[in-house]
Amino acid sequence: MCTTVGTEEIIILSDDEDCEDDISCNEPSVLIVEVEDVKKSGGAVPPSALDEDLVITFSRRAEVLPHARYDCPIHPFTPTDCEIGAPVAANQLMCDQCFCYICDKLASSCEMWCHSGVCHCNSHKRSEFWSNHRNCSLLGGLKTFNLTLSDIDSHLRQAEMMLHSFRLSLATQFSSFLMGNMLEQYGVSQSIQKCRVFDYTPVYEFVSSFLNKADKQDDRAAAIMRLGAAENFLLHFHVSGTFILQSPMANAAEAKLVLLQRVIASVQRQMVMADFTPEFIHKLQDFYKRFNFPTELKSMKNSLTVRLWDDVLLVSVLKGQNVSGIRKDKGKKDVLVEQFAVVLLRTELLQQQHRYRELCRYLRVVETDDSKLSLQKVQDLIPFFMCMAGDLGSALSSLLPSVNAPASRFTPQLFLFYLRVFKTATAPKLAVSQPAQLCSTDAAWEPIKDAVPLSHVPLVRFALRVQRCCSAVFTDSQCWTTLLAVVNTLAPLQDPSPQFLQEAKDVVTSILNDQHGSNIQIPRFFQTVYPDQAMLLLVTGALCLRILSAPLSPALPVLNTFKENVWALGWLWGSLSSSPERLRSFLLEISKEMESTTDGDHLLPFLCTTVSTWSSPTDNWDQQSSGPLNYL
Ligand SMILES: [Zn+2]
Ligand SMILES: [Zn+2]
Repeated sequence: MCTTVGTEEIIILSDDEDCEDDISCNEPSVLIVEVEDVKKSGGAVPPSALDEDLVITFSRRAEVLPHARYDCPIHPFTPTDCEIGAPVAANQLMCDQCFCYICDKLASSCEMWCHSGVCHCNSHKRSEFWSNHRNCSLLGGLKTFNLTLSDIDSHLRQAEMMLHSFRLSLATQFSSFLMGNMLEQYGVSQSIQKCRVFDYTPVYEFVSSFLNKADKQDDRAAAIMRLGAAENFLLHFHVSGTFILQSPMANAAEAKLVLLQRVIASVQRQMVMADFTPEFIHKLQDFYKRFNFPTELKSMKNSLTVRLWDDVLLVSVLKGQNVSGIRKDKGKKDVLVEQFAVVLLRTELLQQQHRYRELCRYLRVVETDDSKLSLQKVQDLIPFFMCMAGDLGSALSSLLPSVNAPASRFTPQLFLFYLRVFKTATAPKLAVSQPAQLCSTDAAWEPIKDAVPLSHVPLVRFALRVQRCCSAVFTDSQCWTTLLAVVNTLAPLQDPSPQFLQEAKDVVTSILNDQHGSNIQIPRFFQTVYPDQAMLLLVTGALCLRILSAPLSPALPVLNTFKENVWALGWLWGSLSSSPERLRSFLLEISKEMESTTDGDHLLPFLCTTVSTWSSPTDNWDQQSSGPLNYL
């Protein structure tokens, strides 16, 4: 076949397959003929050639491209199966473009070319013996990972070289550990100077620095270096001397555990997060399983048994086709049990990829053998992930199921967090692995895609339901202030009629006392005439119960939220007066709080009046005619 390349040269390609059966075929694979030279050399055209399709007009010796020795166009090659003793026929001859098939470098620089016992000049690709030999030689230490030449790139080759020199130095380091140090080097008294101590610390540090190097490599190279190192240091053992060093990594067994944990954590992370092919992951897993684990590390033997992302059960759970996490296949039961570290990694990745719904489905069913308590914390994030998926309504219900409600484990901060998310349909931009992180972030809050803020009614019902199941939220003053700020809107609400205020007492009481189920049922009629006022009174009624139950501190910020709706505060005093003793002590608490507050400008004049009136010793608590409303 002929083709022109630019205007300068003609490349004549021979079809390699044609020579399939003739290994000694002397046709070169590629010849380059420079056109200009050809013109100069001229040449007669044989008349007979004019009749052919392909006309040979010039003839010239071609420049020879690099080739394997067995392909040499100049020196004939004689193939044999596995002759390594001495060159067969003229196989030792080479042109200046002959390459050694085994070393993959110029034959002239091959040190084993005619070396008896490993004679490379006889090698060729049609012999299984020589092909294996080539693989071993080119793969080097990578062969033990069952990698093939097609897996190898420059990063892996680099990793192999680093691993090789690491192994040599590690052997030296370990043997000097085994020799121990004389105690005199530690400056102890002469009588015991002849004793030896064995300090693994330098070996530990050497391995650590190699793992640091691995961290900086390309993903696959890093995995190979980590596991390659582990294979070696796992073989180390501790030697105890008379004296034991207190430094943490002086003991080989303890240091090995720390190192292995580091390797496992890194490789697990790669298996979940990196873009590895399933084949490559299986090779890493198989390599790891072949380790000789000492008894104390046996429990880590399965640490790299991580489900791939294309695992049938995992995929069906993520897609919502399997909601049990259990799959039965030909009588075998597969349960979605994962190591906790792996759960965390998947949680991290799915958040990065904004696959929140899949993450929720996964967390609902996944089980762990270890760290059940920690798993609970991650599962408590499901409502947050539902929010991030844009479904605030479902998020709200998932906080308050009838059993084991995540809201029952709220801290006040977490309650305030969700209240803000529901009210604004915004959330901080961050990836989390437990609820506490939601509250301790500086991340900017951004609108949640497709989410609609919840209106007052569901917000209030949510807050009241949380107060029922979570005493931390019920008790906390800040939670009350924030909730009241939601219903005490900035603009003053119109004063409702006295009749409404009066009737509201019974309605609010019955709503709050209704303990059937965890839900809060608000009768429709209550919301028809004064809907906003009704919500305010409902929360105020709940606050009344809170104040009656125990001291509330600080109380001023809570009461301050009523400044635009003094009528509601009056309604609160009225409700509190059902328990005169408690009202008296509450007012005392308030006046103490006022005295200790220097920032008096913030205080409401109406509150001062009320408190001083009610706190005065001459006051008659039981006098119904001077009910609290009269004082405002
Ligand atoms: Zn050659
Ligand atoms: Zn060679």
